[in-house]
Amino acid sequence: MQMNNCVIGIDIGGTTTSLGFVDRHGTLTCETTLDTLADQPAEILVSRLCESIDKLSKALPPQVAISGIGIGAPNANYLRGTVENPPNLNWGASTNLVELFRGRYNLPVAITNDANAAAIGELLFGGARGMKQAIVITLGTGLGSGFVVNGELLYGADGFAGELGHTTVDPAGRHCACGKQGCLETYVSATGICRTVSELLAQRLDPSCLREVSYSELTSKKIYEAACGGDSIALAAFDATARILGMKLADAVAHTSPEAIFLSGGLAAAGDLLIAPTRRYLNEFLFGPYKGKVKLLRSDLSESSGAILGAAALAWHEVGIATRP
Ligand SMILES: [Zn+2]
Repeated sequence: MQMNNCVIGIDIGGTTTSLGFVDRHGTLTCETTLDTLADQPAEILVSRLCESIDKLSKALPPQVAISGIGIGAPNANYLRGTVENPPNLNWGASTNLVELFRGRYNLPVAITNDANAAAIGELLFGGARGMKQAIVITLGTGLGSGFVVNGELLYGADGFAGELGHTTVDPAGRHCACGKQGCLETYVSATGICRTVSELLAQRLDPSCLREVSYSELTSKKIYEAACGGDSIALAAFDATARILGMKLADAVAHTSPEAIFLSGGLAAAGDLLIAPTRRYLNEFLFGPYKGKVKLLRSDLSESSGAILGAAALAWHEVGIATRP
């Protein structure tokens, strides 16, 4: 029976890889986590994942069929089925993960980057349900973004559409791991806000508990806690982060005119410390016809299972079941 079918969602990270079985309503079962073993070739991870899948699928009721596999991974290209030059995995220039899984299972397999997976997860199982136009921003170590346009993920000509994290805020600004200068993610991300605090501490004389924290020990969580305690440097760092994010989101609105923008990931957990000022700056920077029309919301998918749900949503979207009534 179709209602009982499920897909496999796999989220590959630099340190850990999670997988689980997800039904068409977004219910996650049989979740498990493996060490990615990032220095090993991709084939080793695929073999270990297949072992887990075979073991876990024995626990499924006999009437449940697996309909497909969805994968979220860094630097993944949906159009080619590949992971290309992943920064934290020793996999080389290009690995076709879709082919590796198709060699093991006679199932539809699709892959996309983590931010696109988060976007399609939001569309099928989260706050973007029923929307045709949305943007999902993931605020972790970097800044990822996925665009939903006319009810579909936007991939572009080469499969890498929507990388807002590497659009330019200041051409002479902070150096980015991508090789450019002044990229959005060097300001708006968990690491970006640490860099902002460091600058503010150097520029200003306000007393701050963050002066006691060495740079290598500074985290966005410590900045959040300081801001909650009224620390003026931490509050100024959130305001500066929100201003840059609001400004760049206003540009993104001009490109695709979304109904809503969703913020997810570690830094979004700061809630209204970040989201309320970003909303204010977004409206300030928006072109007149868009003002007051774009919702800025926190993702309601949980951070721990959201990545698996996103990968599973990609699989459901691929097999075309979840969108049916
Ligand atoms: Zn960059």
